[in-house]
Amino acid sequence: YDWFQTDSLITIVIYTKQKDMNAELVIVDCQDKRLRGEIIVDDHSYLVEVDLDHAVQEDVAVNIAEKVGKVEIILKKKDNILWKRLGQPLESHNTFLKRTDRGLFYRKCKLVSKTEVTHDTKLLCLTLPRSTHLCVPTGQHIYLKQIIAGTEVVKPYTPVLPFLPLDFKEPFRHDSAHIYLMIKIYSCGMFTQALDHLQIGDYISVSNPEGNFKKSQVQTSEDLFLLAAGTGFTPMVKLLNFALMEVSCLRTVKLIFFNKTEDDILWRNQLEQLALKDERFEVQFILSQPTKDWVGKQGKISSSLLCEFVKRSRKDSKVLICICGPTPFTEQGIQYLKDLGYSQEEIHAFTA
Ligand code: FAD
Ligand code: NAP
Repeated sequence: YDWFQTDSLITIVIYTKQKDMNAELVIVDCQDKRLRGEIIVDDHSYLVEVDLDHAVQEDVAVNIAEKVGKVEIILKKKDNILWKRLGQPLESHNTFLKRTDRGLFYRKCKLVSKTEVTHDTKLLCLTLPRSTHLCVPTGQHIYLKQIIAGTEVVKPYTPVLPFLPLDFKEPFRHDSAHIYLMIKIYSCGMFTQALDHLQIGDYISVSNPEGNFKKSQVQTSEDLFLLAAGTGFTPMVKLLNFALMEVSCLRTVKLIFFNKTEDDILWRNQLEQLALKDERFEVQFILSQPTKDWVGKQGKISSSLLCEFVKRSRKDSKVLICICGPTPFTEQGIQYLKDLGYSQEEIHAFTA
């Protein structure tokens, strides 16, 4: 890395020499005078971490030359004075570690809205600080941290979009300043009860993203099947948007959505509209505890249900099956899929 300055700006340049460097691989935070810039390179992480020599303004900009892998972090000086050095290196400055060996970093985000999705599930919108650059990649989750009864408690959540985009002519670019979370509030849930008591304007700590899903798994698929149970729908939101918008080789995208009752179905209306709008997309709701009026499918994940709904569109189509829900649901699902002849490479399970 290197740095240079003008009268008003400080630019830190990191030459990653990685093709396909992109905004999701660069995480920057600048709190007080502490600058932390993390670059993800495959399963490794490079860190620039310094106590800056002088104060900077709140907003941080990141420029990426994707083809050559050059990353610029641009800070605005608070006072237009000449800096003699960038700052004092901190403990992990200039280190290149396995991602899993780098501890989670948290920043405080403000709760700006809370809207009802169903009787027990809410869509929370958090704003990142202006001094943070962070985009959560498709298929990855973050951790929220709260102090509950004097103890630090951490739980994972998977960011979604504010809604399911229906117009695929215009690429949907949701603003990177906000993180949307769809969270089910459990009546005896320790963490979600505390979350539900947060007021608009309160702050909560949000970690860097984690997860092992790779978009390239979808990019080569012709048939995509998404098996979701309850809030296991959350990773499917960005995935659906990515698949329908950016993967041209996909012929079919099918969501098989397991819930207890009709009232529990998340974004049912939006999913039905999407199915009308895009002929590649189909949604099947399956209820385990329906009322008498339910005319749709009933049951729990089983070999026979999967045999009925997960079928290659052609004999030799390349298929990807993604599954997410309560752990036993996911484990059983994987076993049934293997019994039906799908290979490990054709299955991706979202887990912590
Ligand atoms: P807890 O106090 O842990 O309990 C919640 C309820 O579940 C209680 O009623 C309890 O009796 C019951 N319960 C607890 N543990 C079990 C168990 N092992 N088996 C059966 N029942 C149990 N949730 C979302 O709402 N949205 C998301 O986007 C989301 N993303 C996630 C991503 C990942 C990678 C993972 C692993 C989980 C995700 N979750 C998500 C679940 C979330 O992390 C919490 O587990 C959930 O919010 C419950 O937390 P809690 O402390 O309120 O509940
Ligand atoms: P829920 O409403 O309790 O259940 C949704 C559906 O799944 C219901 O039809 C339910 O049937 C069925 N189900 C529940 N447990 C099952 C089991 N053991 N075997 C087969 N089917 C089962 O679900 P929820 O409360 O929203 O919970 C969602 C789960 O997804 C949580 O455990 C959460 O941690 C997980 N999640 C994981 C991720 C991730 O990335 N790993 C992301 C989001 C959510 P019944 O009528 O039989 O209960």
